Amino acid sequence: MRFCPKCEVKLKKADSGLQCPQCSHSEGQEVKQTKKVDEPVEESILAFEENEGEESNPTVKIECEKCGHDEAVWWMLQTRSADEPTTQFYRCTKCKYTWRNYA
Ligand SMILES: [Zn+2]
Ligand SMILES: [Zn+2]
Repeated sequence: MRFCPKCEVKLKKADSGLQCPQCSHSEGQEVKQTKKVDEPVEESILAFEENEGEESNPTVKIECEKCGHDEAVWWMLQTRSADEPTTQFYRCTKCKYTWRNYA
């Protein structure tokens, strides 16, 4: 039960919440705020997504930094600026770990 802070009378229920019958004092209903939980943005290498169908890409004998497997798929990706060198990507065929090599 809530009381009007001015008149100390019981507040009555109104459409917009609680209202004092004697003065114009009104209290809005407590609105439960639903917290918007921002889902963590998955950090992913752009090239990784652009190469979803990369299974046909050539493989190379290179040691995976993560699991030590000795074969990885590789592909080249030209960065936006033509001045920048092409980036070479490797993806372990075993654990799918992806890393890049700045040639
Ligand atoms: Zn009042
Ligand atoms: Zn691996």
